[in-house]
Amino acid sequence: MNDIRVGHGYDVHALADGLRLVLGGVEIEHTKGCVAHSDGDVAIHAICDALLGALAAGDIGKLFPDTSEEFRGIDSKILLRRVTDLVEERGYKISNVDCTIAMQRPKLRPHIDAMREALASTMGLECDRVSVKATTTEHLGFEGREEGVSAHAVVLIYR
Ligand code: MG
Repeated sequence: MNDIRVGHGYDVHALADGLRLVLGGVEIEHTKGCVAHSDGDVAIHAICDALLGALAAGDIGKLFPDTSEEFRGIDSKILLRRVTDLVEERGYKISNVDCTIAMQRPKLRPHIDAMREALASTMGLECDRVSVKATTTEHLGFEGREEGVSAHAVVLIYR
């Protein structure tokens, strides 16, 4: 283990009434959901970008263009699995993933463990290597006004 790389990812989606809300691979009951070409899972998109960043292999928009019909409404777990495959093809293993979701409402805490399990199983990791945290922004900014949701992720990979 002498080649260790860190990666960071960030994603934002707007929220709109009546759409599905999918975060960390889990569908969450809410009045609003993410406006997106895919299922709008900002947490997974941030994690994909963190993994791609660690590989210096571009970003999710380059790999999975939102102009492509192939990716319309796609389950973002499929994108995460493809990015994980790329990590493995390059000879790396994922050490751990840490993701923070910023959203004012609903409370995400009841869904955190389900997200960790969904993400871990998609990446073929033990659950204790996957952290998901949630924060409000104290009603400040676009997340606080419930106009959108953002997610940050950092990952460590090694070979
Ligand atoms: Mg996105």
